[in-house]
Amino acid sequence: MFLAVSGLTKQYQIGIATTVLKGVSIQLAKGHIGVILGPSGSGKSTLMNIIGGVDRADSGTVEIDGERITDLSQDQLVEYRRKSVGFVFQFYNLVPNLTVAENIEVVSNISKQPHKMNDVLSAVGLFDKKNRFPRELSGGEQQRVSIARAIIKNPTLLLCDEPTGALDFDTSRGVLSLLQNVNRDFGTTILMITHNSAIAAMAHTVYRLRSGEVAEVTHHSELVPAE
Ligand code: ADP
Ligand code: ADP
Repeated sequence: MFLAVSGLTKQYQIGIATTVLKGVSIQLAKGHIGVILGPSGSGKSTLMNIIGGVDRADSGTVEIDGERITDLSQDQLVEYRRKSVGFVFQFYNLVPNLTVAENIEVVSNISKQPHKMNDVLSAVGLFDKKNRFPRELSGGEQQRVSIARAIIKNPTLLLCDEPTGALDFDTSRGVLSLLQNVNRDFGTTILMITHNSAIAAMAHTVYRLRSGEVAEVTHHSELVPAE
């Protein structure tokens, strides 16, 4: 399996120990979209952070495309994050004094096989705005820039943590539709966190987390279009 998470556990020690992940296992096929659903505090971000090499598990394994992430040294983990993972967050983290194209270009340089700037700009519908600054864009457009920045390096895996969390319903639909297009056109494997179950219908696989455990896995043979 392209992404295989097996028996992941994680505890945080803040006064008393809190077990955040209690043996989480998930699998996602190459080129698929997976959604992690679940209430606040159920462990979604912790799981994604471990898959993205930002945090470490106490036990269990993560394998992506045959590479065992959980065995990497600290230096190897930095390399893995930079080259193999694209991150999209609720807030866009764009550099305010760089244009759209410059915000995206910063990242393309770290990859051996980046996508072409113009292909990515067209894919996210921002070709005409490549010389604008972030403050001149709507929230939805800024999120499109952050998606372009995440995919230009041709990541093995695109991780999105509540990508529509700061957007209204219609703008959210646009961003989700865009992620589906990215998935289709670039073949990018996408894993996305949300607590919105309407979003889950547009994924191939939905993992429902509850108190640090996978309570339910649902597979869809066909994606429901966001628009
Ligand atoms: P979700 O993304 O589903 O809201 P999280 O993975 O963010 O859940 O958090 C799960 C639990 O782990 C929460 O109770 C949270 O307070 C705790 N937690 C998350 N990160 C840390 C941390 N760095 N230190 C201590 N506790 C944490
Ligand atoms: P959305 O519905 O996506 O939030 P907005 O209503 O905020 O969109 O913006 C609509 C259009 O106005 C967008 O194309 C955006 O580029 C443009 N726009 C928004 N704010 C500014 C600004 N401060 N300067 C120039 N153009 C702007």
